[in-house]
Amino acid sequence: MKADIHIVGAGPAGATLAYHLSKKGYIVNVYEAAHKPGMKPCGRAIPGVEGIGVNIPSSCIQRPLRGAKLYVDGEEVFDLHGLNGYIIDRTCMFQALITDFGAEVFYRSRYDPNTSTVRVNGSNKITIPPSSILVNAGGHAYYPGEKINAIQYIYETSILDEQDEIEVYFDTELIGYYWVFPSTPGYAEVGVGGYADFNTLRTLLEKFTSKDPRFRDKTPSKIEGARIAVGGIKISKYNGSITIGEAAGFVLPLTGEGIRPSMLSALSLANAIEKGKNPIKALEKSKIAKSIMIQRRILEGVKKLSVPERRELLRNIPGDLHASIALGNISKMGITRALVSKPKIAKMLIKMAFS
Ligand SMILES: Cc1cc2nc3c(=O)[nH]c(=O)nc-3n(C[C@H](O)[C@H](O)[C@H](O)COP(=O)(O)OP(=O)(O)OC[C@H]3O[C@@H](n4cnc5c(N)ncnc54)[C@H](O)[C@@H]3O)c2cc1C
Repeated sequence: MKADIHIVGAGPAGATLAYHLSKKGYIVNVYEAAHKPGMKPCGRAIPGVEGIGVNIPSSCIQRPLRGAKLYVDGEEVFDLHGLNGYIIDRTCMFQALITDFGAEVFYRSRYDPNTSTVRVNGSNKITIPPSSILVNAGGHAYYPGEKINAIQYIYETSILDEQDEIEVYFDTELIGYYWVFPSTPGYAEVGVGGYADFNTLRTLLEKFTSKDPRFRDKTPSKIEGARIAVGGIKISKYNGSITIGEAAGFVLPLTGEGIRPSMLSALSLANAIEKGKNPIKALEKSKIAKSIMIQRRILEGVKKLSVPERRELLRNIPGDLHASIALGNISKMGITRALVSKPKIAKMLIKMAFS
């Protein structure tokens, strides 16, 4: 049980941190409440792997992603090619990351933040020594900021088996988005996330799938949902622990993409621990944290717009700028260049994103 670093949660944040720190020679324990890692509802799409600092084992790749189609109110606005992403098998990948360099993982082991204890394997209760580093990568439940709801239908169908693109649909009536993702061969996932309660989202998803001939006559084999932290970076120190991943808001608020940001937060923390730097400052100053805060400000701006204003904004943003915003690669110069013929929209977007 002796360890230098104790990590709560075997999702992308906890598993990636375990990987980097055990690779650097630290003794790492991971405590996971579930019976295996990566079990939370998720579309499992990683749109890009640049800079994530780990190799995804080929046995954990369910399919490569080479593109993304973006739609606004049902109309295609962009067909992005050249992605280097994947649909992953979360359990396989996180298990591999944790164990690659010898970190130890304890399943059915729930951490109690009030007492700083873990019930290991559901029985033996241990106290995390105050002298060791405790990292809470327990996901959205620990996030203190704003969250939206998301649900998805899993269909047993081979209709998307040849597809290497994800589809993202913005609907100006909802502050949120729908997605259609290829999944494990023989399956497809269709979901919605946004500012609405789960019942409303379910009704919207019914409507959305009933309009799509690929899913109209199909019954989902599984329905799952969870909350998504969209309030931006909020790193908590609680009872001696520090949060990373979704627990600290490492999710891109406009798209709900959280796997890659969580992994990047783990990489920043691992480097800060190794170099003896202030971990909170390192996390807050990371490139991904800045991208998240820009998206957060845009989301705040979008929330204040009326539906017609939202429609005007979404329809007038060129597709490649939509894609840069969605992936978190946005700059004032990029907006100005992309919207040279639409200075009013450019000004509005720059004001939202950067002030
Ligand atoms: C429907 C839906 C679809 C999504 N699709 C995508 C997508 O396609 N691509 C993408 O990038 N993001 C997606 N996301 C977001 C993504 O799933 C999360 O942002 C990401 O998994 C967060 O990683 P994490 O490691 O911080 O937390 P998590 O993945 O939530 O992992 C936290 C782990 O901690 C464990 N845990 C929690 N509390 C305790 C405790 N007290 N003791 C011990 N263990 C504990 C949990 O069991 C869990 O395994 C989606 C989210 C939803 C809801």
